[in-house]
Amino acid sequence: MRYRTLGRVAFAPSALGFGAMRLPVLADESAGAAAPRRIDEEAATAMLRRAVEAGVNYVDTAYVYHDGESEPWLGRALRQVAGELFGPADQGLAELRRRVKVATKLPVWKLERNDDPERLLSEQLERLQLDSIDFYLLHGLGAGSLAKLREHDVLGWAERALADGRIAHLGFSFHDEYPLFEELVDATDLWEFCQIQYNYMDQEYQAGTRGLEYAAAKGLGVIVMEPVRGGQLARRPPQAVAALWAAANARREASGLAARTPVDWALQWVWNHPEVSFLLSGMSSLAQLDENIVSAECAGPGALDDDDLETCRRVRDAYLELNPIPCTGCRYCLPCPSGVDIPKVLDIYNEAEIYGGGPAAARFAYGWVSESERAELCKQCGACQELCPQKIAIVDWLEKIQQYLAVGK
Ligand code: SF4
Ligand code: SF4
Repeated sequence: MRYRTLGRVAFAPSALGFGAMRLPVLADESAGAAAPRRIDEEAATAMLRRAVEAGVNYVDTAYVYHDGESEPWLGRALRQVAGELFGPADQGLAELRRRVKVATKLPVWKLERNDDPERLLSEQLERLQLDSIDFYLLHGLGAGSLAKLREHDVLGWAERALADGRIAHLGFSFHDEYPLFEELVDATDLWEFCQIQYNYMDQEYQAGTRGLEYAAAKGLGVIVMEPVRGGQLARRPPQAVAALWAAANARREASGLAARTPVDWALQWVWNHPEVSFLLSGMSSLAQLDENIVSAECAGPGALDDDDLETCRRVRDAYLELNPIPCTGCRYCLPCPSGVDIPKVLDIYNEAEIYGGGPAAARFAYGWVSESERAELCKQCGACQELCPQKIAIVDWLEKIQQYLAVGK
């Protein structure tokens, strides 16, 4: 395992972190498709053990992952793995805790009262069976978060939790536009790290490369999530992309190097950035974990040469050219008088088609769109179409997308 740095924190994180948000789940035939799937604890705990044995030293969960079951699972799994690897009871756990850091997140959007952060942290410590959290993140900060943090004095509360030792390091995770990211980084000196979505497709999306460089320059550790875009870059690539990877792999093999999988290319692209502290992978099987561990053995800035980076650029362009709807995300069509977030809805369709996820993936993404921004609200007034520089038939597409979302339901 390779180890990296995390801003000013005196801790050398493994290049690969264990994300506990897509753990293996049990097949439950009797439950409906929409029912939450229970974690396959035996398989998930075996994965955690394998990761620790391979030198992974950072495990990331959150209050809401797996409908609230990820934290309690991790509490049990840490004790089991500690007992198996480092000896019984508190002694084994202490050794595991010395080697492996635990991160979890405060669901900021659930805060309604000033004592909610305290209540939630107490509950999290109980779920995790720990008396302190190594890395604590304010989860998914975005528009409106700063006002909420001020309204409930969350940073004042966090400062007290840091002082009494229940939190060792404070950070935040982010899923919004770049200008807000900068504002958040500058909002307090308490941050020691942040967590952003970053991969070769999302260089200008959310925090993006600018955010990575900005936070790193301010001395924050930057943890990357979604390095394979929630699995999209791990699927069998379309023909145009597969041809580019094949050409790059042929070049590697001619030099006596092993071919890379699409997942390995995506991970190496992230690790190639010196500003990245490490990446989190939400793995769902031992096979995925093993593949990521092998990749992490040769992770590091400089692992990709100029030709490799050019291939990644061309792969990105090839994916983007596959967009069925040529929306550039310019937002000139907004605001829609009915509230429809037109580019967001079009993007969901594009992504489902480009990465091969189909209607099921689109439905999952659509579940995150607020009801006040959905395609169903379109009154077909046509105002947006006149403003669109790409001359997209928005009304027709919104109708088509609604039909698409219903396929196979
Ligand atoms: S056509 Fe639909 S999406 Fe476009 S502005 Fe009118 S209501 Fe909004
Ligand atoms: S104006 Fe056209 S290209 Fe721009 S975001 Fe709206 S639909 Fe997309």
